[in-house]
Amino acid sequence: EPNDRTELLNALPLRDDLRDKSPYGAPQLDVAVTLNTNENTHPVPADVQQAIVEEVSRAARGLNRYPDREFTQLRQELAQYLGHGLSAENLWAANGSNEILQQLMQAFGGPGRAVLSFVPTYSMYPILAAGTNTEFIAGQRATDFTLTPESAADQVREHRPSIVILCSPNNPTGTALDDDVVEAVYQAGEESNTIVVVDEAYAEFARNPAATALRLLPGRPRLVVTRTMSKAFALAGARIGYFAAAPEVSDAVRLVRLPYHLSAVTQATALAALRHRETLMADVEDIKMQRDRIVDELKRMGLEPAHSDSNFVFFGGDFDSGDMWRHLLERGVLIRDVGIPSHLRVTSGTEQETTAFLDAVEAFLDRKT
Ligand code: PMP
Repeated sequence: EPNDRTELLNALPLRDDLRDKSPYGAPQLDVAVTLNTNENTHPVPADVQQAIVEEVSRAARGLNRYPDREFTQLRQELAQYLGHGLSAENLWAANGSNEILQQLMQAFGGPGRAVLSFVPTYSMYPILAAGTNTEFIAGQRATDFTLTPESAADQVREHRPSIVILCSPNNPTGTALDDDVVEAVYQAGEESNTIVVVDEAYAEFARNPAATALRLLPGRPRLVVTRTMSKAFALAGARIGYFAAAPEVSDAVRLVRLPYHLSAVTQATALAALRHRETLMADVEDIKMQRDRIVDELKRMGLEPAHSDSNFVFFGGDFDSGDMWRHLLERGVLIRDVGIPSHLRVTSGTEQETTAFLDAVEAFLDRKT
């Protein structure tokens, strides 16, 4: 049956460069413990739910009109949240940081241009590149998945891409980049006028949240720092992402964004959540604690978890990824096989979910020996 569909698809006048491509596809299975897409698994706290309902209800009255195309109030409050001397004109938002990245590729990538990132990294970058007809260049990391300033800068000078994406903390490895990598890449991209995007989707979970590329924005007009409300703010379902950059970067994406792309409902939801961030940040502390617990416990079991500054843990060891993934799923725990042999990735959930995951891993390891 899927073969039939492939034939039918190929009979359509699909763009040649999209033929044989696969869509993004983390499984959405009905499983008790779902730790495969790095969501915040804590339900939205009651007071935040209430605030969202009230704000959305106010917006509902005006849904006959198009929303504020410039989402001015949201940009103001996002700037205030980020600090670092940023103001509304430095901010831009869209439906998830995925759309943010797509808009950046539409504006700065496209036919005849390339985007460079360092693999393994977020699996959507090549898919967004394909959709915008931008060449994706898979830059290299060391065998332990680290990236030095020298290596990153050399690869930028070699490929002269229009865009570089640095993911920090990196998905799937969880590790944050030092400022010197961002600085070296920015410097190396000077001659090729390269846009440097630092994807900080997981910034709030970092051990040192002050260590953000936002600090590097002054004086760097080609630097863009992207964030999301899908993770720390527990709003993956609401689809809100944003970036901070020089105001002219927003001018560039205004040329490609759909008019009124950020619905009034979305704007209202984001504002309500931002105003209740203290409650949400308490859950972030909880998630960080469970993350550290996962790292400690996996080490105790003889596995090799990577250092994590995010809400997930990437771990390796003497096991078959497919075997362990299936065993966990049989026990009602869904995690992520990112296609790297003898490695898996797990989202740090609630204390209970973490216990279910750790018990399932222990049972798998016991079964093997
Ligand atoms: N960047 C990274 C590194 C991610 O892991 C994700 C989500 N998995 C995103 C961006 C996109 O998130 P969203 O579109 O929900 O903001």
